[in-house]
Amino acid sequence: TTGALNGKVAVVTGAGSGIGKASAIRFAKEGAKVAVLELTADTAEETKREIEGAGGEALVLECDVSDPKAVESAIGEVGEKWGRIDVVFANAGINGAAAPIETMEVEDWNKTLETNLRGTFVTVKYSIPYLKKQGGSIIITSSVNGNRIFSGTGFAAYSSSKAGQTAFSKMAALELARYKIRVNSICPGAIDTNIGKNTFPSDDLKEIEIPVEYPEGSHPLEDRPGKPEEVAKLVLFLASDESSHVSGTDIFVDGAESLL
Ligand code: NAD
Repeated sequence: TTGALNGKVAVVTGAGSGIGKASAIRFAKEGAKVAVLELTADTAEETKREIEGAGGEALVLECDVSDPKAVESAIGEVGEKWGRIDVVFANAGINGAAAPIETMEVEDWNKTLETNLRGTFVTVKYSIPYLKKQGGSIIITSSVNGNRIFSGTGFAAYSSSKAGQTAFSKMAALELARYKIRVNSICPGAIDTNIGKNTFPSDDLKEIEIPVEYPEGSHPLEDRPGKPEEVAKLVLFLASDESSHVSGTDIFVDGAESLL
């Protein structure tokens, strides 16, 4: 390890799987103490085991980011245990329901927005009192979806939440600059994670389907989706002082996929 995060405390939401897990482990390998926030304690415990196996330190906190009170109390516990927070990775997210707008249930829309967009807002909100003491870095997992591409009809809620997360990160970057808190969003393309298991397409999606013809080699860089560890490298850069002059931007990590 290069110790890029030595002495720092990091909070990662959705750290039990995929991009969050890879980033939590990478942070720990770089010297950070890592708070692993997850819906389910069992996957979070596995992340903790891997962090400890690599010689790092982790704290598991069962926390549903769509519950503002749960987020407030989890972040409070991190502050209480380790006395500071330097890095916040607001990453937890779901694809949620995919349905035509005409038949999309308001509850389903709310669930996606409350997890992805409001979850990001409250994660950032309750971290500010700690981050502003010494400055820090906030990274928000948005997506190519809602920013450069709008893949697949039916994803109105998801795309809106992701575009909202990028807009939110820019507002936060402006507002928090006075405290030396940097804020950036990342926009992954297709990454090999478990997110597909939490996608619920409705039966009537077929009716609004627009056939998208992907050109040959739809991953220009390599003919495969990205790996969580490849996203974690970007997250580490944004979390560390290597990106000391980078704030208010959205960085794509998609092997040029979204340019096609
Ligand atoms: P993943 O499903 O492997 O991991 C997401 C984790 O977040 C899961 O462990 C899940 O339990 C957790 N989570 C879900 N809802 C939560 C809640 N309410 N509170 C706390 N934790 C919750 O998926 P991933 O691909 O690693 O997703 C991480 C982020 O990346 C998401 O915001 C997603 O939208 C974004 N993203 C993923 C891709 C992709 O292709 N995988 C592309 C672009 C953006």
